[in-house]
This record gives sequence, structure tokens and C-alpha cells, in this order.
Amino acid sequence: MAQNESEADRASASKRMLGLLDGLKRTSAGIVIYDQIARLVEEQEGVQARVDHTYAALLHLLLDAYARDPSADHITRLNARLIQLRRGFAPATGGAVPSDKLDERIRQAAAGVAAHVAEKPRPEPAAAPKATAPAPKEDSSKTVVATESGALMAERRVNNAYRLHLDRQRDEIDKLQEALAKSVTDALTQNREFGALLQIELRALQQAEGDKEIEQLRQILVGGLEELINGQRSLDTKLHRTGGYLKLIKADSERLHEELHKVRLLSLTDEFTGLPNRRAFMRRLLDETSRAQRYGAPLALAMIDLDEFKAINDVHGHAAGDAILRCYATEVLTVLRHHDMVSRYGGEEFAVLLPNTTQEGAAAAITKVRNRALEIRCEHQNTRLALPTFSTGIAMYTPGESHTDLIDRADRALYRAKRLGRNRIEMELTVVPPPRPQGLTNGNGS
Ligand code: GH3
Ligand code: MG
Ligand code: MG
Repeated sequence: MAQNESEADRASASKRMLGLLDGLKRTSAGIVIYDQIARLVEEQEGVQARVDHTYAALLHLLLDAYARDPSADHITRLNARLIQLRRGFAPATGGAVPSDKLDERIRQAAAGVAAHVAEKPRPEPAAAPKATAPAPKEDSSKTVVATESGALMAERRVNNAYRLHLDRQRDEIDKLQEALAKSVTDALTQNREFGALLQIELRALQQAEGDKEIEQLRQILVGGLEELINGQRSLDTKLHRTGGYLKLIKADSERLHEELHKVRLLSLTDEFTGLPNRRAFMRRLLDETSRAQRYGAPLALAMIDLDEFKAINDVHGHAAGDAILRCYATEVLTVLRHHDMVSRYGGEEFAVLLPNTTQEGAAAAITKVRNRALEIRCEHQNTRLALPTFSTGIAMYTPGESHTDLIDRADRALYRAKRLGRNRIEMELTVVPPPRPQGLTNGNGS
């Protein structure tokens, strides 16, 4: 142990010094002087050893208290343990870490904090273009702009704002990470400096003569400890502030995320009728066709178009037409089952998806709608308007066909219904792949 080694060194130095005075023993007066000096040296050694012991024990207690103080942050506690190990003090329990590994551990802990801050995933708005792909210019595609609803454009605007906001937050977090890394490096440097100070101190203490010098050294040590504690306190404050700031950033992000979610919801809804819009319908259609493809359940698509609707606008006014459209959405089409999806496909056109429904089932469901439309009246400006009839084209999903082909077939049936006099249901026959000719070989004669 370092303490015992220094005691042994001191003992041999005293022996050497007394060895030099050996010549004194040749005279009787010299023997007296020699004995006096030998006694003084012995006494001095004892005092010095006691001072060293007391001081070392005090330091050990102090460092141990720091290392175990639950109110101190873990870096302060690590520092205390590090100094204990450097000085060869064995901590009372646990912590048998080689001193050269401790700095490395602190650095790893600091790197962990910094990495946690830096690696906060950058949420990618789902509808935003991928970073690697060049974003299409707003006006570069006329078809996109032409079909985009106001809500979609709003979504795009919010997406852009969200992206900008996230970029700004990313910058803030980078700055924070830098500041934190600097604070931790400063703490490490301070710790290293303090370690060196302690070494110098110990050496100085070993050689110190007199209470005054020991007191001076004690003050230096106390000053160093205070500096170290202040440094740790300021690091702690910085970490606390950073934590608070990160919480603010998180709350801000969540708020924006909510807004984005609201706009997204809005963009899937037709604000006028409250029904899912064409975009929502296309999404659901994709889901349902792939489900029908996988499980082989029947899936029917009905396209509904109100008959002679233009005439209603012309006779009763546009506002009456609007009221009738709303009536269809809220009073008529609601007779369909909950898991059927009714959407506003266009002006006075509705698309209805009927999962797990056969051709006959779909026809029955649409007949139910027709009966409902016949029996109710739409209140508008104190008049009760009869609802117009509608024409329907129904197509059954054929496994393997694309969702757009399914829509095309339902549309064809709808136009046929219009052509054949309106207020009727037309079925589009299921596309059945032509049977393979019997008895033909595949050309290889097998
Ligand atoms: P058809 O039986 O052939 O479908 O005749 P139609 O008059 O319904 O068909 P057309 O496509 O010629 O006209 C559709 C009309 O629906 C034209 C348009 O003014 C009206 N319309 C579309 N959307 C709305 C709407 O939101 N409100 C009102 N009031 N009218 C609408
Ligand atoms: Mg129409
Ligand atoms: Mg119409």
C-alpha cells in the first residue's frame, strides 16, 4: 500500500541520516549528541506517521462519504471513488475497479448521455416525400394539383411546417449535445487535475514540517475539493436544465404531431357530408381487395350516382341540392351495415364497399337504400323535399384483379344502369379467367 511504502522510505532516510552521524559516537560528548539527535528523529517520525495516518483516514472518510452520498449525482460519486482508488484506499464494499478503467467508465457514461440526446429518432411524417427522393414541385404535376383537395394541401403545408420544426429541433439538440459533451469533458479534466493535485499534496504532506505547513496544505486540499464539488454542481445544474429543455421540445413535438394527425383525419373526410372521402375509400379498397385476395371472401363494390341531380339544383336551387346530398349521407346510406364503407366518391356519387357480401347480398343492401330514399323527406327551408332516385352499378371483386379494374367494372355497370333508364341496379359479371382448353399438350408433348 502507498502509505506503508512512504513510511518505509522515511525510516530508511532516517537511518541513512543517522549513519552519516555515526562518527559522533567516537567521543563521549559526541555519543550524547548522537543519542539526542536519534531520539529527536524517532520522535519526529512518530509524529509525522501519526499526522499522515490521521490525515489519510480523514481523507478516506471524506471520500467514502462522497462516494456513498445518495443525494450526490453519480459523477461526483464516481470521482470520489476514483480518488480513493488512486490513493490506494480500498472502498468499504464493492467498487473494485482498476483506477485506469474508471476514467474510461466515466467517459462511457458521458458518451451514453450524449448519444441518448443525439439519437432521439427524427420522426418522419408519413405523407412527406422521402429525403433521398427529390420532392416534386407543387406545380410540376397538373393532375396532382387538380385532384388535390383543400384538406390535402393543408396537410402538405402542415407536413412542411412539421419538417421545418423538426429540423430546427434537431439543431437545438445538436447544440445541447455539444454543450453537454463540453461540460462532461470539463468535469473529467477537473477530476484529472484534482488527482494530480492530491498526488502533489500527499508528497508535500510526507515532507511537511510543522503544523503551519500542514495547515497550508490542508487549505489547498480543501480549496481543491470545493472546486471539484462546485464543478460537479454546475454539471448537475446543466444536466437538469437540459432535461427540462428536452421535455419542452418533446411536448412541442407532440402538439405538432397531434395537429398533423387532425389534418390527416380531415383529409380523409369529406367535410361537406362527414363521410369518408375518395382518398379514404381508395385506402380501404386496397385493404379490402388484398384481404379478399388472401382469404377468398366475397367483396362487392357498388357505385351510386343520384339521378338527374342537375335538375334538382336547377329547380330548387343549389342549397336544396346540398341539403339533399347531406340527407343521403346522414339519413339514407346509414341503413347499410356498420362494416360496409360508404364514401363520397365525387359530387353526387357515392362508392360503397361491402366486404363478405355476395352479389345477391349487395343487391339486397342497395334495395334497402332505395326503399329508405323513397320513404323519407328532406327538410330544407321549411319545405319537405322528396329525394331523387339513384342508379347503381355493382361489381364483385375477382381475385387477382387490380382495385382500379374493379372500379372500372362497377362504373361500367353504373353507366349501363343510366343508359337503361336510371333508378336501377346493374351487375357487372365477375371476370372468370377462360378455362384451359381440354386435351391440349403444352407443346413439349408432355
Ligand atoms: P344523371 O342521372 O345522368 O347522373 O344526371 P345528373 O344530373 O345527376 O348528372 P350530371 O353529371 O349531369 O350532373 C351532376 C350534377 O350534380 C351536376 C352538379 O351541379 C351536381 N352536384 C355535384 N356536386 C354537388 C354538390 O355538392 N352540391 C350540389 N348542390 N350539387 C352538386
Ligand atoms: Mg354524376
Ligand atoms: Mg347523377
